[in-house]
Amino acid sequence: MKPLHEQGVHELAEALTARRISSVEITEHLLARVQAHAALGVMLHLDAEVSLAQARAADARRARGANGPLLGVPLAHKDIFVTRDMPSTAGSKMLQGYASPFDATIVAKLADAGAVMLGKLNCDEFAMGSGNQNSAYGPVRNPWDARRVPGGSSGGSAAAVAARLMPAATGSDTGGSIRQPASFTGVTGIKPTYGVCSRYGMIAFASSLDQAGVLARTAEDCALLLGTMSGFDARDATSAERPPQDYMAKLHQAQVEGSAARPLNGLRIGLPREFFPATLDRDVHDAVRGALAEMEKLGARLVDVSLPRTELSIPVYYIIAPAEASSNLSRYDGVRYGHRAAQYDDLLDMYRKTRAEGFGAEVKRRIMIGTYVLSAGFYDAYYTQAQKVRTLIARDFDAAWELCDLLLTPTAPSAAFALGEKSADPLAMYLSDLYTIPGSLAGIPGMSIPCGFGQSNRPVGLQLMANYFEEAKLLGVAHQYQRATDWHARMPALIQDDK
Ligand code: GLN
Repeated sequence: MKPLHEQGVHELAEALTARRISSVEITEHLLARVQAHAALGVMLHLDAEVSLAQARAADARRARGANGPLLGVPLAHKDIFVTRDMPSTAGSKMLQGYASPFDATIVAKLADAGAVMLGKLNCDEFAMGSGNQNSAYGPVRNPWDARRVPGGSSGGSAAAVAARLMPAATGSDTGGSIRQPASFTGVTGIKPTYGVCSRYGMIAFASSLDQAGVLARTAEDCALLLGTMSGFDARDATSAERPPQDYMAKLHQAQVEGSAARPLNGLRIGLPREFFPATLDRDVHDAVRGALAEMEKLGARLVDVSLPRTELSIPVYYIIAPAEASSNLSRYDGVRYGHRAAQYDDLLDMYRKTRAEGFGAEVKRRIMIGTYVLSAGFYDAYYTQAQKVRTLIARDFDAAWELCDLLLTPTAPSAAFALGEKSADPLAMYLSDLYTIPGSLAGIPGMSIPCGFGQSNRPVGLQLMANYFEEAKLLGVAHQYQRATDWHARMPALIQDDK
């Protein structure tokens, strides 16, 4: 039998159902692993008592005859989701020690299904970043190479799943923060259509873009978790009013429909030419081309498409996201909750010092940009204009769906970069989301799956995108690809000898 930590959500559920193992045993094993690999920096908060109490409760539910695919399975949440039983910081000093009186909706849904919370995962401050180096609590390291970043902002989630510290983790994605770290660490991640997962209890960064999702080792495990986390929530005004989706059932349905040898028969995969420039990084190019050949073998047909406004995506995103962030972050005033400066002269001075002390450099940069583009004199020139271009970017996708069923691109322009490499150059950092941001602006679902390794043994991911609410299609295609390949099953050398 595989060691416990190498088992995915489905395998653990099977072992739990067959009573081969208890949730307490799995939880103890994984908590010990998190501690043994503390140098990775993935965890911001651990509380073995809380986790074990949840595991005991899950075991007791099973003993009373309850069953369910997540009952007793441990996982952890990105620290952008508020939790009642553990502090929630969003990676910021501003929220150090903050205790939420309630659980985020996705946290509550997973808890109701019996998932055990292993802890809170490190992330870039308020989810702003692409390398998990903007956390006030220190960086996360990539398990494939500790001198490199795991990607961001869900870097703790991605590194934890890659290092087999847990079978799955939640993440959030505003401009690529699930997909890019999934790519950098060789795991599978899905950001659903905007509105599929409730944002209630997700600490806000850019509200028209923020979306919760999952990082796991397989598309199958992503399907299971997404089915549990998603669904209409009256407490989120932008939640999509749709019936609950059983992505697992759809995954298996897709399997029955295609022929065994060519399960993707007839599927038209669009390759947006703007995402495959002649200058594309060698390692990324080779891995993605290899995946395209595999997709063809599985029956898919490749079609050339264009998303002509791709190059406008980064400028548009870096107007809209900071604008919304500057508004959302105005709530951290030292009065309602969070950090308050110890010494100040008057109210204004208290605001100033509190915010100067509580926020990190990247967050301040965005508050300043956001305030500027929303100011009376520049609002039309920047913000209104960016909103118009955002609509045009979404229309580019609409046009592409006339020609293809889904889009396949590299997830990121490169494999994981070195810690510190882009820290002094925010623009270089922003460019690492070049391929994920267009889909975020349109609000469509996107997924990253491992598709190979570069020369230096760094994971490379491919991105799949589909039209609104077509998560099942993405998951189905990813599942077929993972049945035919084993990139997702590779493990970093760091953990190969772990018992
Ligand atoms: N890296 C992008 C940013 O810094 C995206 C972050 C995210 O998706 N949360 O804004």
